[in-house]
Amino acid sequence: MTVKRQAETSIARRGLMLVLSSPSGAGKTTLSRRLLAEDKGVTLSVSVTTRKMRPGEVDGRDYHFIDRKQFDALVEKDGLLEWAEVFDNYYGTPVAPVMDALSRGHDVLFDIDWQGTQQLSEKARGDVVSVFILPPSIPELERRLHSRAQDDYETIHRRMAKAADEMSHWAEYDYVVINRDLEQAFADVTAILAAERLKRERQPGLSDFVRGLMAKL
Ligand code: 5GP
Repeated sequence: MTVKRQAETSIARRGLMLVLSSPSGAGKTTLSRRLLAEDKGVTLSVSVTTRKMRPGEVDGRDYHFIDRKQFDALVEKDGLLEWAEVFDNYYGTPVAPVMDALSRGHDVLFDIDWQGTQQLSEKARGDVVSVFILPPSIPELERRLHSRAQDDYETIHRRMAKAADEMSHWAEYDYVVINRDLEQAFADVTAILAAERLKRERQPGLSDFVRGLMAKL
């Protein structure tokens, strides 16, 4: 989508769109936060949502919390790269910050569901790298949802029911990581990112670089 000169190598690089999807409770949010903290080349796409803010969430950091009218207005003016209805609420990815981050040579991280991933892939297939995070087991998924203590029992029950629907889309993703152990899952995600960054087509500056090398022979 964009070509940018990378300061440390001076090889023009094309930013990628890293999508993490999973059923709620599989550890995706923890993995995203860690990746953002440890890799300054990655920018989070902060979604808009019509759902209520949970305790501990911060407007503008976790989501931009908006109402249905504002959401519809964004859809109307093509302000969203993708959007979907999840658990009776609306979620969407604002276009402008994504384009801005890519144009600055950043990779953009998306914490979106399978519906959003499909839309993103249709729009920018070559730039999307999608990773599906699976929980190690259903009892463990349930335990993680309860231990979050952010949702009431009814919501947890609905999220468990929705997990099967979300998980049925695992085969549409480029990579699948089973989150048995957070350290290992994090190492897997960073390995995927490192390899994808090195793909030849993501380094359009390589031909100039190699030409420069050859000229010195
Ligand atoms: P939660 O309410 O737990 O934060 O998120 C519920 C689901 O909505 C998660 O699977 C999350 O990945 C997904 N989601 C969050 N933001 C977006 C978005 O902008 N687009 C889409 N399609 N899904 C999103």
